Amino acid sequence: MSYVSEVLSHVVAKNPGEAEFHQAAKEVLESLESVVDANPQYRKNAVLERLVEPDRQIMFRVPWIDDNGVAHVNRGFRVQFNNAIGPYKGGLRLHPSVTLGTIKFLGFEQIFKNSLTGLPIGGGKGGSDFDPKGKSDREVFEFCRSFMSELYKYVGADVDVPAGDIGTGAREIGFMYGTYKKLTGLYEGVLTGKGLTYGGSLARKEATGYGLVYLTQEMLEAHKDTLKGKTVAVSGAGNVAIYAAEKATALGAKVVTMSDSTGWIYDKDGVDLAAVKEIKEVKRGRLSDYKNYRPKSEYSTSGHVWQVKCDIALPCATQNELNIDDARALVKNKVVAVAEGANMPTTPDATEFLIKSGVLFAPGKAANAGGVATSALEMSQNSQRLSWTFEEVDAKLHGIMVNIYRNASAAAEKYGHKDNLVMGANIAGFVKVADAMLAQGIQ
Ligand code: NDP
Repeated sequence: MSYVSEVLSHVVAKNPGEAEFHQAAKEVLESLESVVDANPQYRKNAVLERLVEPDRQIMFRVPWIDDNGVAHVNRGFRVQFNNAIGPYKGGLRLHPSVTLGTIKFLGFEQIFKNSLTGLPIGGGKGGSDFDPKGKSDREVFEFCRSFMSELYKYVGADVDVPAGDIGTGAREIGFMYGTYKKLTGLYEGVLTGKGLTYGGSLARKEATGYGLVYLTQEMLEAHKDTLKGKTVAVSGAGNVAIYAAEKATALGAKVVTMSDSTGWIYDKDGVDLAAVKEIKEVKRGRLSDYKNYRPKSEYSTSGHVWQVKCDIALPCATQNELNIDDARALVKNKVVAVAEGANMPTTPDATEFLIKSGVLFAPGKAANAGGVATSALEMSQNSQRLSWTFEEVDAKLHGIMVNIYRNASAAAEKYGHKDNLVMGANIAGFVKVADAMLAQGIQ
């Protein structure tokens, strides 16, 4: 049995019922075969065994009272996976589907993504099975205060710096930051994605979506192509999707679809982003409302955006949302590139099919790293007690995304997987962390 297969069977045996974590571990470890074969010191020092075992996983009770005076209990999580190259860093997901396995898959992926940014940040992730949808501001505040009144013991500006993710936006970060400050008396950059009046960074809100498009553009240019004039299908209508659509449009592409958890829109003339922002960011409503702004658009609750003919597909909603049938439809419609805005949105068989069909494929670890990279820039600004301009942050983000693409491409080529960015991103992300672990001894 190979070293990788041995470690993977341990992961499955030791973490029963955590299917998403198994999937993420398999995807990363299988792409590292050639690297661990070429570097026996990784096996000798049990680097893979140590990588798949989080430094610690914290689970806690989150009690809160709703507007009718009824008490509820949710489960909170923070998985601190690896801090070989910097403080733990990764978002907090608030969604009823969240389990320990979800958080571990996300935390594991985060190690390599953060490494790829070239910035000094380790990997972690957290969240809760709380559903902020349909809750009043007071109920969300109650939950956030309760959540942070436990989490504050384990985080800190130089220890672990959580951020937003699905369900955790500026409102939730604000409530959690206020609670941390009150409990510790510290005014420090313990969270990123903060509001601009209390330590947030300009361009953080836009960063993941903009970064996704910068990387896609770089990938296309490396293959003598361009975004200009392309038709783009986007899924999701949240933070990543909205700003990916905004940047793609600014660079001359036409975005024709967006989706939320109840349905999707098709607007052949190009999605009206001001309308989407009003529906999703201001009203916190449903995309079904879009027809009221653009009567000629179509809204559907069956099927998926990937049925629409497009040149570029940007899955920006959630994990496993683009399956093999979707991949077949995209290839049939002659898609040129797929770049993942969400984490692990493409199923493994769909990814393989797209790559084999010659589609340019950018995995989330590389393609959506702009969010965490800009979070790290927020940490730098907080430490310096300075605020950079939007243009400064955006220019740094652009440079980081170009470097991520080039480093991942170079690593793929070095280990015999030319043009395979899935391999390249995993290898480049891994080598930096693994070498730091080796240098620090068996810990
Ligand atoms: P948001 O909560 O802002 O938006 C998520 C969007 O996806 C919403 O429109 C939501 O619909 C939709 N959605 C969620 N689940 C489903 C589903 N099962 N089917 C269809 N649509 C769905 O989250 P983000 O935009 O922040 O995150 C999206 C993805 O990007 C996640 O995988 C996240 O981990 C990843 N990511 C986010 C980063 C960030 O900086 N925000 C950084 C890197 C990765 P509805 O409006 O109905 O809830």
